[in-house]
Amino acid sequence: MNPTLQALLDLQDTDREIYRVRAELERLPRELASRSEKLDGLRERIAELKNDAQGLRIRVKEVEDTVATLRARQRKLESESNEPGVDAALLASYQHEIRTVKGTINEAEEDGLRLLGLADQKLEEAAQHEETLEAELPDFGKFEEAVATETAAAEARLAKLQEERKGLESEGIPEDQLTLYLGLLERREGEALAELADLICQGCFVSIPRNLYVRIMRGVELVQCPNCNRILYSHG
Ligand SMILES: [Zn+2]
Repeated sequence: MNPTLQALLDLQDTDREIYRVRAELERLPRELASRSEKLDGLRERIAELKNDAQGLRIRVKEVEDTVATLRARQRKLESESNEPGVDAALLASYQHEIRTVKGTINEAEEDGLRLLGLADQKLEEAAQHEETLEAELPDFGKFEEAVATETAAAEARLAKLQEERKGLESEGIPEDQLTLYLGLLERREGEALAELADLICQGCFVSIPRNLYVRIMRGVELVQCPNCNRILYSHG
């Protein structure tokens, strides 16, 4: 095999691993952020529900105040209607007003009960979310620890690979061929080389002309796949 090709193959093994470790180092914080966002979402929802419940309770208090005022008014009307000197016409008028006030009190009380029910529903829902949150926090803690451990391991692995890589890159690979390789490595996400098997590029699975195979076997130059541009190699 062409010695440059052999050197690139060795380099490719390390670079593939570097790409894998780098992908892991990108994935880990993303996963952690995604889980953390879910918990934050839950916390926000709980705060929102409690806030809604508080708003509803304030309205209930207002209704209660209104009812208290109306009851005072009712009592005042009742006492006035019982005073001496109230004739039949005035009594009828008092009774009519008392009925109206009672009706308004009933409506307000129903409204208050409805609002109270709504507030209870909101608090109930908040409590359910709090339970979910409580249940998930230990899991999240463990996950966070695992991510920290895995990240440290991946970083150590990456440092070691990059050290190994330095030695491999300096192994007599001509500058222009190294540049070609590095460009392909980036465009092809960590796979700059592809095996040729039965005249099919194993990088993109397109068949290539026989003369390219002959050129690969001659081992004088680097041969690229006409379709995916990867540098081709063959074990015979
Ligand atoms: Zn190809």
